[in-house]
Amino acid sequence: LVGTLADQGAVAIERTTLAADIEKARVDAETERLRTALLSSLSHDLRTPLVSILGAASSLHAYEETLKPAQRLDLVQTIQEEAERLNRFVQNLLDMTRIGAGALTPKTDWVDLADVVGAATGRAKRMLRHRPLRLDLDPDLPLLALDPILLEQVFFNLIDNACKYSPDGSAVTIWARRRDRHVVIEVCDLGPGIPERDRERVFDMFYRVQAGDGQTAGTGLGLAICRGIIEAHGGTISAQSGINDAGTCIVITVPVGDAPDLPDQGEADAQ
Ligand code: ADP
Repeated sequence: LVGTLADQGAVAIERTTLAADIEKARVDAETERLRTALLSSLSHDLRTPLVSILGAASSLHAYEETLKPAQRLDLVQTIQEEAERLNRFVQNLLDMTRIGAGALTPKTDWVDLADVVGAATGRAKRMLRHRPLRLDLDPDLPLLALDPILLEQVFFNLIDNACKYSPDGSAVTIWARRRDRHVVIEVCDLGPGIPERDRERVFDMFYRVQAGDGQTAGTGLGLAICRGIIEAHGGTISAQSGINDAGTCIVITVPVGDAPDLPDQGEADAQ
């Protein structure tokens, strides 16, 4: 009997070791996949805007004397837009590193959602220039305990996606309402939408849905970063289809905290 028990123990240990080995191999393969994806994304996403910047700068230099003002402006704009793209990419990489290291600690403050959305749409002005932006934020929303800089990054990434993945001229809507102890926020577009089978995976790092044209530039980091930031605030984020199954709605919920008793303006003035 003792022998049998010992044998069973040995088998159990062997099974556990085997399961651990399989898990380790899976983690190693995933790490390798992420590393390769990061390197190819890094080289592509750093090089593309750099090549455009170098090209525009050399033209400005070489044809300094002969360029018409409109041509000069065009080249300067290219440099500015591509530098902004680089900046966004580096910001996303920094956020991703912090999320990966579990070091993303929101510096929360009591903020008005409208201010954060306003800051993000202001930053995204150039992307939004060819389409209507519909803001439908309940004016009576409570103040929320959020890190305004991180949340601006979330809205900026979502507006960036809404513009990248929907036709020029179609509307982008940002909607927010209070639902009990949460505020629900939606960023919606009228593009082709995200297929149901991909709606969870698009929040994985480097995951990109194979678009019909396969041309849209991107790293597959934006939504992973949004999820990291929203979850660090105790909220949730998911992808859904829009009204009548048209387009994409990214739905965020953030908890309503116990806002501090702020003196109203009358009281503040009296002091
Ligand atoms: P990126 O846009 O850099 O590829 P994201 O993490 O922001 O990375 O998005 C992951 C993928 O999800 C995108 O490649 C795209 O396939 C899909 N996606 C994201 N937002 C939208 C949207 N608004 N409409 C359609 N597809 C989207």
